[in-house]
Amino acid sequence: MAIKRIKILAIDDNKDNLISLNALIKDTFQDVFVYTATNGENGLTLARAVDPDVILLDVVMPVMDGFETCKRLKSDPLLCDIPVVFLTAIKGEKEHRIQALDSGAEAFLAKPIDASELTAQIRAMVKIKEAHAEKKLEKDQLERMVQEKTKELNLAKEAAESANEAKSQFMANMSHEIRTPMNGIMGMTELALMTNLTVEQAEYLNIIKTSTQSLLRVLNDILDFSKIEANKMELIVQPIHIQELMREVTDLFLVNAVQKHITLNSRVDDDVPQILLGDALRLKQVLANIVGNAVKFTHQGSVEIKVTFKDEANSKWLQFSIQDTGIGIPKDQYESLFDSFYQVEHTKSRSYGGTGLGLAISKSLVELMGGAIRVNSQVGIGTEFWFEIRVKPVEGTQMAEPKIEMNKQIENFARLDTVKSALLVEDDAISQLLGKKLIEKLGLVVETAENGIMGVKKALEGHFDVIFMDISMPLMNGYDATEAIRKDEKVHNTIIAMTAHALVSDKSKCMDSGMDDYLAKPIMIPDLKVILDKWLQG
Ligand code: ATP
Ligand code: MG
Repeated sequence: MAIKRIKILAIDDNKDNLISLNALIKDTFQDVFVYTATNGENGLTLARAVDPDVILLDVVMPVMDGFETCKRLKSDPLLCDIPVVFLTAIKGEKEHRIQALDSGAEAFLAKPIDASELTAQIRAMVKIKEAHAEKKLEKDQLERMVQEKTKELNLAKEAAESANEAKSQFMANMSHEIRTPMNGIMGMTELALMTNLTVEQAEYLNIIKTSTQSLLRVLNDILDFSKIEANKMELIVQPIHIQELMREVTDLFLVNAVQKHITLNSRVDDDVPQILLGDALRLKQVLANIVGNAVKFTHQGSVEIKVTFKDEANSKWLQFSIQDTGIGIPKDQYESLFDSFYQVEHTKSRSYGGTGLGLAISKSLVELMGGAIRVNSQVGIGTEFWFEIRVKPVEGTQMAEPKIEMNKQIENFARLDTVKSALLVEDDAISQLLGKKLIEKLGLVVETAENGIMGVKKALEGHFDVIFMDISMPLMNGYDATEAIRKDEKVHNTIIAMTAHALVSDKSKCMDSGMDDYLAKPIMIPDLKVILDKWLQG
């Protein structure tokens, strides 16, 4: 192994001192380089250039004294590891020695320099420098390892993100693929229920109807959950009629509550404004799940919903408490409760149904709406879920849209004054048949086209009051077909998308291509009626 030469830098304004120091060092060490500088500034520059093993530093120098030079050496990350030995002139001057150490030096020697003391001191300093170098090497290695690991983790994160992206896309596609046949089942069931049936047949069809409704709920939950996971959930801010919303929520579970002999009440505090701005649909979704859970897990007693308002200087909050007298939840399960697919063990033994996605979705939605959700429960006594969401006050003329009752029995469909005509552009044979039947039920004359090109041709030839347009079709899709129809200035049909693409972004894509409105499959008669009333009444 090659013997390493010791590099010593001596800084002293007195040239004679430097000469004698050089001689002294060379007498003791064979393999040594001695560098010299006559002032602090040059000393620093030289130190940077040669990286000495030790610096011998005079105290009293003009411009920059030894203490200042030492301080600058020690505050420079490139130089701070080089040991500094002060050469103090005044023997026994305690203050200088203290100051020397305070400025960061490792040691000091009093002049006149004793040769053996200098040698010992240099040897000790070289060891310190070596130890520093070793530590630095280890630190560098560690840093490199951390960098490599970080890079690996980043790559893994990117891979996971793109896998998640692919999963969400898969979910969206799957939901579309399932929605199309579901559309057929639900619509045909509804049509069949309107025909003359025996009691037994009606019963079976009603079971099919409720089963497909539950299936659709699960499908929607999975789609919502994948949207939340992919950060694609978008809120739609609109006026919320608090009283009306609470009525709708309780209406959903009233029959169930009555059957179970439990009371279901909702109370809205007097100081809650009648209308506030927020995402009414998502709020209803959260309430429906939590109230639904309360009713589901309560076998006697009551479910009480309370709505309060918190008016702070910079923000307004709607607060909800849902209190039940049901089976309760053990405290150690509070945290996991909001995880996806989690269901409390003792509720599993008895079949309550559900997928365990409700609370995970609710929590994400509440947080998306700027709020938080909490639970407090006692096993065997009951549970309270509490949450709040941020809302905005309604300003000036921001009027609420008139509400249309959706669930009332539809008795007279053909109530449009003159007979209107519709063009249904739809490639799927079952969806086409179903759509035609449903629109006909509402009193319209329906013509069909089985792809976008046929659709455009018929739209430009005929005089339709409304065109229903599917999106995914062979030859030409619904977006392109709409754009083509919109290019003809003589044609002013209302065009309504009728599609299984159920994302908010899909809706805006439809609007961008020139459509007027949007209906998500599965198509239900009440929704269809609302949209036809809206566009054809004029
Ligand atoms: P889903 O809502 O997806 O149809 P779910 O109701 O089982 O299914 P969550 O709403 O997420 O799922 O609820 C998760 C679990 O939390 C429930 O299965 C139940 O074990 C427990 N839980 C929720 N609310 C209550 C409640 N009010 N009382 C007792 N247990 C509850
Ligand atoms: Mg639930």
